[in-house]
Formats: sequence, C-alpha cells, structure tokens
Amino acid sequence: MVINRIKTIARQIKQETIESRRHLHAHPELSFQEHQTVAFVEKKLRAFGINQLEKKAETGLVALVEGKNPGKKTVALRADMDALPIIEQNEVPYKSQNHGVMHACGHDVHTASLLGAAKILHEIRDEFEGTVKLIFQPGEELIPGGASLMIKDKALENPKPSGIIGQHVMPMIPVGKVGFRKGMYMASADELYITVKGKGGHGAMPETLVDPVLIASHMIVALQQVVSRNASPKIPSVLSFGRVEALGATNIIPNEVKIQGTFRTLNEDWRAKAHQHMLQIAHGIVEGMGGQLDFEIRKGYPFLKNADALTEKAQQAAIDYLGEDNVLDLDIWMAAEDFAYYTQEIDGCFYRLGTRNESKGITSGVHTPTFDIDEEALEIGSGLMAFIAVNELKN
Ligand SMILES: [Zn+2]
Ligand SMILES: [Zn+2]
Repeated sequence: MVINRIKTIARQIKQETIESRRHLHAHPELSFQEHQTVAFVEKKLRAFGINQLEKKAETGLVALVEGKNPGKKTVALRADMDALPIIEQNEVPYKSQNHGVMHACGHDVHTASLLGAAKILHEIRDEFEGTVKLIFQPGEELIPGGASLMIKDKALENPKPSGIIGQHVMPMIPVGKVGFRKGMYMASADELYITVKGKGGHGAMPETLVDPVLIASHMIVALQQVVSRNASPKIPSVLSFGRVEALGATNIIPNEVKIQGTFRTLNEDWRAKAHQHMLQIAHGIVEGMGGQLDFEIRKGYPFLKNADALTEKAQQAAIDYLGEDNVLDLDIWMAAEDFAYYTQEIDGCFYRLGTRNESKGITSGVHTPTFDIDEEALEIGSGLMAFIAVNELKN
C-alpha cells in the first residue's frame, strides 16, 4: 500500500529532513532575498534526481515530479521560504547565523517538509498517476506577497494544477496532530495610514486652533461603527488602530495626528464596501470639524477560502495517515496569508501542522524571538504532504 510506503520513506529520511530544516534555520533570509535558500532547494532537488525545475519570481522555484501518465492530472504543493527581521533568542545548535534575521514563522519547516515530500514522491513515482508540482515561493511575509508574483510568473500554468495544498506550522497544536478547516479560514488584511491635519498652537487658546487630537479621537470612535453597524453579523470583521501619534505636550496642540490601523475580514465584496464606508465616515468627521484628511488604505492579502471538496479529501487523507484523534477541526483565524492568492485562481487547501511540545518547553508563538518547533513534526510534515498529493491524484 502506498500509504505504508510513504510512511516508511518519511521515517528513513527523517534525519535528512531535520538537517535540511536546521540548515535553513541557521541561514535565514528576508523576504525577496532568498537567494541562498532557493539555491539550497535546487541543489537538494537535483540530488534527489528531480531535474524539471524552473526559477520563478527571481527567488522562487517550481519543480515537477511526474508519475505514470503525467498528463492525467496535476496537483500542487506549496512552501514559503522567507524569514523575519527578528533577533533569535533560542540557544540551539542551529541558531540563526544571520544576526537580526530569524525563521520565526516556520517557513524553514515548510521548505524542509516540501523537500522531504519531493524525495518521497520521486521515489514512489511508479506508484501514482499524474504530476505533482512543487512550488517554493519567496516573500510570504511582505506585501505584495510572493504568491502573487509567482502567479504572475505563471507558476500555476503549464501544467495547470487542479488544486494546491499548503501547510503551516501551528504552535498551539501539539506535535503529532494537524488541523483543517473547509470554507472561510483566514482574513484579508489591509493596512490603514491616516493623517489628520489641523492647526496647532497653545493649548490655552482653543479658539485659535483646529485641534487634530480631538478630531482624530472622534474619528477613531466613529470608525468603529463600520464593524458594529455596517458589517453583517455573519461576516467576521476587525478594525484595530495600534498607533496614534500626536507629538504635542500638555499645553501644545500639534498640527497633525498620524494613525495606523488594520482592517480584516472574510468577504471580498464587503471588504470593498468597508473601504468606502471608512473613507466616507473619516472625511465626514474630519472635514465637518474643520480639519483635513489624508487616508491611505494599503491593500494586503485577500481572504483565504479552503475549497470544500479538496479540503474534505485532504482531511480524510490525514485521518488515514495519522488516525482520527490526531486530526482537528480548526476555527476561523483572523491572520492573513498570501496562500490566499492561489485560492483565488484554483482550489486550495491550507492546513496546520502541530509543532508544540510542552514537555520540551516548546510553546512560543510564531513571530517571537523564542519560536521553535518539536522536530518530530518534520516526519509528518513531509510524509503527509506527499500522501495528500498522491491521494488527490487518485481518480
Ligand atoms: Zn508569518
Ligand atoms: Zn508564515
């Protein structure tokens, strides 16, 4: 049975997969600068005997593993390769050697797992029909997102996959388990940059001023009605302001106030309408109170929807591979992921790989200087990816 074959190979190559992850972890590169990383990926793939490779979007790479009858169907597996501008605080042998840059979102794990899956798939290529397309993408952490550039560079063409599978570490889920959710899963994320301009001066003479601090305060409160009154209760929405900068003093009213925030939701139509509501309300308040407004909405990733049939099939494959107790149903997650761009083009399934191990003290969240994983997750990460692909290629 192919499932047992995959499990056996995943176990045999476990140490190699761990070493790949440690190499990547020790040599992290920032978004769109993944030159050494993609060179490492290419070297490994060629050593496995996978030579149908194509560089995409400068630091991305697409590779094909062809089974029997390769034209029958194609399914894609995706890994992201970039790291974050964080100073690593873990004292481990594979600690980042690139000071100030760290694989704190587990993209080293995703890349090493996909390399492992590639090796497994290449070894069992006589046991499946169709083609597996491996997508190693740059720049997940930075707008416009490596996924959008890979799509522009035709990563989803020739051959066009019927579906794409992505895997992401999840430090809330214990190692040995994975999580799935079909339908709406992750949010769109837009950055808000607002400047409220008034006329500053002495705090004791309000009659001579247009106070941008008071105007900005009203505007922030009024904008909350976009979520509480304009949004449908059936569509999750978040509007948060995390930075308000008014550089006055007790008796000094500044000329302007700068504000930054984020708007997230799970519906593209509503997202566009919400942008209009925000602009309308903010302009109304600010100009009504005599100030001037500069409101920039920097659009980030779209919302992520997991295709029902593809996700059900992948989840069932995970149950077959790991047992029912080890496959969880996930809740909506208001973070954003550029994998969402692929799901706008073709069916997608983005699932979570458990990496937590409290007994080893591995509990830190992603994007923190102490993030790490239980490396036992890599055997599952590589084997399950390969099995989901082979299972999806069947019939
Ligand atoms: Zn991240
Ligand atoms: Zn990530």
